[in-house]
Amino acid sequence: MTKLIIGLSGGIGSGKTAVSDRFAQRHITVVDADIIAREVVEPGSAALERIREHFGDDMLDSHGKLRRAALRQRIFSEPDEKQWLESLLHPLIAEKTLEQLSNIASPYGLYVSPLLVEGGQKALCDRLLVVDVSESTQLRRTMTRDDNDRSQVERIMASQASRQQRLDAADDVLDNSGDLASLDSKVEALHQRYLVLAEEKAKRGQS
Ligand code: ATP
Repeated sequence: MTKLIIGLSGGIGSGKTAVSDRFAQRHITVVDADIIAREVVEPGSAALERIREHFGDDMLDSHGKLRRAALRQRIFSEPDEKQWLESLLHPLIAEKTLEQLSNIASPYGLYVSPLLVEGGQKALCDRLLVVDVSESTQLRRTMTRDDNDRSQVERIMASQASRQQRLDAADDVLDNSGDLASLDSKVEALHQRYLVLAEEKAKRGQS
């Protein structure tokens, strides 16, 4: 990638969106893995049509949109079907991700994905920034935001990388245990640092 790419990761409810919104306010291009995963199956897309042919009309709602929960349920206990779906979607997601990361307009770019620690996507990034809070804060903020019950959030947390695994993989750690004003000043400090690193990378590219 020509531009400096900062990978942003963190567990559920750690504050990835709160952080990426603050970089976006500073005019930094944000590439979001969750948004790309949704875009490749937008109504009218070739991939959504393949899904409809393969799994049936039940997978689409009355507006022609993918019924994600129904699809998740369908592949949950069927590894072959899960693999079929992944071999359809992963190359499309990878292509779109590379295209967006290669066309970053700002001095550096942010790539937000919950799977940067677990998956191979870290290779796309120059540095990994991890948003860190204690498990109890993660639980409390997610339950407040989504009105989910405790066991549901705990199940998702157990399926993700552990706090320690994330910290071990991080180049930079953003402690989000404070209030939103304190988060904002931490993002500003990182932004200033990344601008310097971006300039250094640009100079290396020219020489
Ligand atoms: P997910 O993995 O589910 O997408 P996330 O990592 O993007 O979550 P956010 O949605 O940014 O997390 O934050 C979770 C909740 O906590 C949101 O309601 C957000 O407004 C709130 N929040 C984030 N940071 C703080 C903070 N420093 N103080 C108070 N509330 C916060």
